[in-house]
Amino acid sequence: MKKSIMLFASLLLGSAAALAQMTCVVAHRGYWDTDGSAQNSIRALVKADSIDCYGSEFDVWMTADKKLVVNHDADINGVHIETSKARDVLAQKLKNGENVPTLEQYLDRALSLRTRLILELKPHADKKLEEEAVKAIMKLVKERGLEANMEYITFSPEAFANLIKYAPKGTPVFYLAGNLSPREIKAMGGAGIDYHYSVLKRNPWWIAECHALNLRVNAWTVNDPKDIQWCIDHEVDIITTNAPKLVQQMLIEQ
Ligand code: MG
Repeated sequence: MKKSIMLFASLLLGSAAALAQMTCVVAHRGYWDTDGSAQNSIRALVKADSIDCYGSEFDVWMTADKKLVVNHDADINGVHIETSKARDVLAQKLKNGENVPTLEQYLDRALSLRTRLILELKPHADKKLEEEAVKAIMKLVKERGLEANMEYITFSPEAFANLIKYAPKGTPVFYLAGNLSPREIKAMGGAGIDYHYSVLKRNPWWIAECHALNLRVNAWTVNDPKDIQWCIDHEVDIITTNAPKLVQQMLIEQ
């Protein structure tokens, strides 16, 4: 009897340890550092899925005529997205020859994929447009039944509050800027912190504090093996990286 209790306890402890080790890998701007891919391309989303990333991150802007498009920078080839027409933005080419994708195209492609969609809403100068972007994102996601596949991230404090307000209850929303404590994130209804790894290195106690508050910790953009190992050792939950295969390999070798 005593033996079986001990066995049960060790199994429980073993599974808790295994859970603690389950670090998730997010491909930053998709898996782009590979043949035929490019940052924020549809190909990068498909590639991230093909190597079983937990999630594929991408950046979203709203054009002046209210179309949601996927691109990192505020400008592409001299076209300023927020103040330009969608027609002009979508005519621009990515490095792999794809045109700048619309969010609709991105979501449509994701319908047959398993990877989670880590949508970063970029901070818009026009805060009204930014709020409209949040509402429009929710509409497109709902129309496709993708709500459960989504996680949202943003540097914009206003967008952070609006994403929490307009997303279905329980949708993970993370804050990127690194200047709010876990308690502040919890009080605002966020799912966790998604901070540059240097912020976590300066405030390593925030990781345990997040876990105690039932928040998740995501670190960006972690590419160097030393920094990846630091994140694994400090039980960061999600590693956002330009080198998803390297992080996956390092996790296997732990
Ligand atoms: Mg991003």
